[in-house]
Amino acid sequence: MMDLSGKNAVVTGSSRGIGKAIALKLASLGANVAVIYAGNKEKADETVAEIEALGVKSKAYSCDVSDFNNAQTLVKEVIAEFGGIDILVNNAGIVKDGLVLSMKEEDFDKVISVNLKGAFHMIKSTYQHFMKKRYGRIINISSVVGINGNAGQANYASAKAGLIGLTKSVAKELAARKVTVNAVAPGFIETDMTGSMPEKAKEAALAAIPMKRAGQGEDIANAVAFLASDEASYITGEVIKVDGGMAI
Ligand code: NAP
Repeated sequence: MMDLSGKNAVVTGSSRGIGKAIALKLASLGANVAVIYAGNKEKADETVAEIEALGVKSKAYSCDVSDFNNAQTLVKEVIAEFGGIDILVNNAGIVKDGLVLSMKEEDFDKVISVNLKGAFHMIKSTYQHFMKKRYGRIINISSVVGINGNAGQANYASAKAGLIGLTKSVAKELAARKVTVNAVAPGFIETDMTGSMPEKAKEAALAAIPMKRAGQGEDIANAVAFLASDEASYITGEVIKVDGGMAI
């Protein structure tokens, strides 16, 4: 039985969508959760209230993870408030889709800086803390698009593929300190991000899923909770696809 009682988790992008489902799942297993959001304070406060109703501690923090100084300040504040960090989930992400022909350089950079550099900033800011603790769980939310590529998402696929390289490299660096670093690669999950896709693109995505249904945030949260648990203590540098068979 997975038990995260007494553990402190930081989940970036947990005001809504997959991150919120992850935050609630970790809290349901006993973890205290720092809810990180970009600008949506109302949604973040809602998540905090739902977590507190589960009987654990929670607090919302506004932080643009693409800014290294912001990430460093955030980590210091969370450690001061919660007494330490045991679990870091790098989930914050954005899309700015388009064919390379029309993709602006700034749209490429922006997606890389939030989705890939954001995770690097959070890992760099918590690295020494985890080293000293000789314990930690880092879970990066990649995507099946980072494994297979996707027309119209060169920026996003590059960031998500980069996250896999980051995951495996940091896993090797921190393994001796008993810090595991893994990635979860979701397929097509029903959230605001996919809700804004054109109807035709949604139909094509659904048709490509052998299980013939879109995933839910909870599907991803279950895999993250497992990787965060003691039951997964010998798993590191792994990428778990949670996609209904989309990327088989
Ligand atoms: P979402 O519903 O659009 O939510 C995005 C979350 O990220 C929000 O909490 C948002 O905060 C936060 N965020 C955005 N930019 C940020 C920044 N610069 N700094 C800090 N937080 C930031 O997205 P989602 O669908 O749940 O996706 C979550 C993760 O899963 C992303 O990394 C995404 O790439 C990945 N993923 C999603 C799918 C899918 O099908 N949905 C598939 C594969 C991978 P605010 O609420 O304040 O804006």
